[in-house]
Amino acid sequence: MALVFGLSLLTGVGPFEQKAHAKTVFVTIGTGGITGVYYPTGGAIAKMVNKKRKEYGIRATVESTGGSVFNVNAVMTGDLEFGIVQSDRQYQAIKGIANWEDKGPQKDLRAVFSIHPETVDLIAGVDTGINGLQDLKDKRINIGNVGSGYRKNAIDALLANGLDYEKDFHAESLKAAEAPGLIQDGRLDAAFYTVGHPSGYYKEATSGKRKVKFIPITNIESLLTKYPYYAKAVTRVTEFYPAAANDKDVPTFGVKATFVTSIKVPENVVYAIVKEVFDNFEAFKKLHPAYGGLTKKNMLEGLSAPLHPGAVKYYKEAGLM
Ligand code: GLU
Repeated sequence: MALVFGLSLLTGVGPFEQKAHAKTVFVTIGTGGITGVYYPTGGAIAKMVNKKRKEYGIRATVESTGGSVFNVNAVMTGDLEFGIVQSDRQYQAIKGIANWEDKGPQKDLRAVFSIHPETVDLIAGVDTGINGLQDLKDKRINIGNVGSGYRKNAIDALLANGLDYEKDFHAESLKAAEAPGLIQDGRLDAAFYTVGHPSGYYKEATSGKRKVKFIPITNIESLLTKYPYYAKAVTRVTEFYPAAANDKDVPTFGVKATFVTSIKVPENVVYAIVKEVFDNFEAFKKLHPAYGGLTKKNMLEGLSAPLHPGAVKYYKEAGLM
């Protein structure tokens, strides 16, 4: 008895918990760079369900990843159970277009809910003289790593403005987490990123010695007509990043962050996560300022993959469907 007790003190797990532990289902949520909003969002979702670990036998953990495209692919191979993915990337994956053109429609992809809005933004050192996309010629610009969601947003914005990243400037394919430091060091002139606000990324990029500003992204009407997932948006720079060299908020376009899984993930696991987030909605909303505009209703909008049956079960019970 003393030995068992001593052991449980050491491991922090009592004999009864050990039994429950043997049945615990471990799930991992793929997010993005640690200075983005996906990473704390994965943490917020995990926190909600982990509180009821004894009841559900689910232990959720979070992984920092390259972003949306990586997350879709890892959820499809079963390396991750859940992923946070831009709404435009969810649409492309289920249709088998853009990054999924060769692989075809990702038929097992399932939507769970949508989360915060994200805007497509470009920042530049004030000393570069960049005031619009037309000033990017010959500059050094981060358009994003291949596994990211935002790389295609950058390419779309550039194309709409008649720019080809392969010819017109020095395009870098860096992970988002690396860009703010390189902007501050002067090794990058400008960088694109698609993220919710406020984010550590823009706080870091705008609060150093080098003056940095947000550049308006205009001439995007062609994108809004061509792609159903893009909407006009404004980045609230003055509110969220007072250290940026902007005295006004900037116009751009945006998407939504969404939570996805695979049809192969069991119904009870998806149900438990949805239930904990929605039953404790006010507590969830407090976990990040980017969730300010969330309502239970708008968390069911902006999804293009079929809903996972575990999510449908909860939404029906809760009268949301
Ligand atoms: N939207 C970004 C991407 O998929 C990630 C943003 C974040 O990590 O908050 O590339």
